[in-house]
Amino acid sequence: MDWRTKLLNPSPKARQDYRSLATPVYRGSTVLFHEQSVVTDDWQQAEHGYSYGLYGTPTTLELAARIAELEGASETFIVPGGQAAIALIYFSYCQAGSHALVPHSAYGPNKAMAEGIMRGLNIEVEAYDPLIGAGIYGLIRENTSLIWCESPGSVTMEVQDVPAIVQAAHAHGVAVALDNTYAAGVMFDAFAHGVDISMQALTKYVGGHSDLLLGSVSARDKQAYDKLGPIYQQLGLAVSPDDCSLALRGLQTLAVRLEVLERNTLEIANWLADHPLVAQVLHPALPTCPGHAVWARDFSGSTSVFSFIFKETIAADRVVEFINQLQIFKIGMSWGGVNSLAVVYPDLQRPHHDYGGRIVRLNIGLEKVEDLTGDLAQAMATLS
Ligand SMILES: *Cc1c(COP(=O)(O)O)cnc(C)c1O
Repeated sequence: MDWRTKLLNPSPKARQDYRSLATPVYRGSTVLFHEQSVVTDDWQQAEHGYSYGLYGTPTTLELAARIAELEGASETFIVPGGQAAIALIYFSYCQAGSHALVPHSAYGPNKAMAEGIMRGLNIEVEAYDPLIGAGIYGLIRENTSLIWCESPGSVTMEVQDVPAIVQAAHAHGVAVALDNTYAAGVMFDAFAHGVDISMQALTKYVGGHSDLLLGSVSARDKQAYDKLGPIYQQLGLAVSPDDCSLALRGLQTLAVRLEVLERNTLEIANWLADHPLVAQVLHPALPTCPGHAVWARDFSGSTSVFSFIFKETIAADRVVEFINQLQIFKIGMSWGGVNSLAVVYPDLQRPHHDYGGRIVRLNIGLEKVEDLTGDLAQAMATLS
């Protein structure tokens, strides 16, 4: 062989018996087949063998299998982010003429997709009261094909009675999808509570360090898997093996991070509950959070994100000053990483409820709690 040809047809030189604790990062688009008769374009790589890098390399499939094991799912798909996971579920369960239900408290971009792409495709996504419970029965129509749950909800933190919603949905043959990001897929057992599809923004707790974007969509059974798979293939939801490798590393410390985050967050939530300028703390483990009793019944713990509402004596512009005054808390969206974050929602509204720009969401990180309460205290002091 000419040296040019040899460059492209190497035989492995290094020893191949290396054993590491870390999953190797397998890159690749093309998959090589042994003979023409086995060439295929099959998304079911875990069952039928590798066909194309678009459906994941061994690094992706290892992450998928570990998430599936953690959540007690039949199978898991890894997708580019939480929002891509939401899209995969909508497209798998809704067609032109379908009706779907999503709680008012759902992640904002989920509702934006409902009002945007879905509406444009003649899919009607109706918003419902997150605390509706068994009352969801009355909203299910002939053409309802999907009910979303997100528990606790984004920003306003309502804990949903998922088993009651599942019971009503299944009585009508309707699938239930849960955005289980808050619970990191572990603090709430989606499948034990009857959910059909559970998704997570792995960006949050599994990644855990604010340095990657990934999502997961986990199927309860083969029926859900077969519905999701073809759409996953058609949408081309490829992910980077490097990001999967970081997520695999994140899984190794998930338990210790969650333990400290839960403890730190509870301390700060309780500190805020005692503060004279605070009207209400929306943390699922506190009785002041809507749906707290359901949380106590169904969850095995709480995580690091929660909100609080300033008293009406504090005007919206003062709340903005409070945020700007924070030193250790950074101003930023997303959460689940190691840094504490704060953000105010100036325009947040729910039906029959205007928060008047006084609702602040915190993500607690791994800093020393006393430093964080000290930071909150000094910023609060500028308000009184
Ligand atoms: C962050 C988030 C998402 C979206 O995740 P990305 O990876 O940022 O796309 C979805 N659902 C919830 C509840 C989230 O907090």
